[in-house]
Amino acid sequence: MWSQMVNGAGKSAEDFVQVLQQLTSRTDLDALTLILLRSILPDRGLLRSRRSWCPACYGIWYETGKTLYDPLIWMLRPVTVCPVHDQILQSKCPRCNRLLMPLDRHYRPGFCSRCGSFLGNSCIETPESLQRVTHWDRWVTENVGELIAMLPTLRESPLPPIQRGVRTIVETHYQGNIAEFARTIGVSKTTAWGWVSGKNRPPITGLLNICYSVSIRLTDLLVNRVLAPASPKPYPDYESRNGSSASRLWTRSALQVAEEHSFALSARKLSIMLGIDRKTLKIRLPSLVTKLSQRYQCLKTAKAAARFFKDASRICRSVKVLLENCIYPSRRRVETVSQRPSLLRSRSNQYVWKTILRRNNDV
Ligand SMILES: [Zn+2]
Ligand SMILES: [Zn+2]
Repeated sequence: MWSQMVNGAGKSAEDFVQVLQQLTSRTDLDALTLILLRSILPDRGLLRSRRSWCPACYGIWYETGKTLYDPLIWMLRPVTVCPVHDQILQSKCPRCNRLLMPLDRHYRPGFCSRCGSFLGNSCIETPESLQRVTHWDRWVTENVGELIAMLPTLRESPLPPIQRGVRTIVETHYQGNIAEFARTIGVSKTTAWGWVSGKNRPPITGLLNICYSVSIRLTDLLVNRVLAPASPKPYPDYESRNGSSASRLWTRSALQVAEEHSFALSARKLSIMLGIDRKTLKIRLPSLVTKLSQRYQCLKTAKAAARFFKDASRICRSVKVLLENCIYPSRRRVETVSQRPSLLRSRSNQYVWKTILRRNNDV
């Protein structure tokens, strides 16, 4: 199971909450996850697969004797900034430089689960590093923060289907022009049509892009409190149509994700994690997609080679054991001795086995 899923909107989170509620006799733990948004948000691009934290938060809580914990907002993939300290969330341990899982055997809030060192630092970052925080970063953090604050209210009043809000925006801000809407948000027309018709639900990044493009709050879109634009200028906050905030967001998230998963990340997986379609990713970031594909191919080849050598040495050892005991190394016996029932099923392994037999006969 991906450990981040316990924070999500799916079955794992539901199971986790159910067990914890039974153990703690509480009935409100669902608002610590995204379960209450399960009908609205698809899992795609929702949660980080690695832990992320604000060192200043941990540092100050530690110094003031408060309980250390990981707020839900740190787990959401689009959020890159601490809402309190306005500084970029960290995802590498400052001591061992490793990325950490959201939950693992040695998990302890505030501490690295690999080397055990404290992840907090009560110093607020210097002005140079603060400059890296963009208007978009702050806007996303605020909007996701409002969404999380809204969670407990959703038990009483569930949200309307998301396509209603999306449709209202297309009608009021884009004059019903789906092609224009799709182009601004940076998705294909088919994807945009799927969102408007209710066939598919936009991932969280899609929703944030939609809201940012027309300057409305995410929570307003969710409750379908979408008003027609106040000014005749249709996109007041959207800097330029091309090279838009949406594309900057992608570049940033794509590169961030690619870096977090320095290996074993295919372009397909990246597009799923970002919640955008593969074609768009390729058009926007062709060099990254090529790089990822090449790296992924190399990794696949390397993994296959490693597996082959491991199997080959296992076959050699088993044949040797059998011959030393004067037993003919038949396929079945080799598989029994190696404790791998299907070891000689693949052609490459059969080739190894036959080659060893032939060599032994020659000797
Ligand atoms: Zn903080
Ligand atoms: Zn560490």
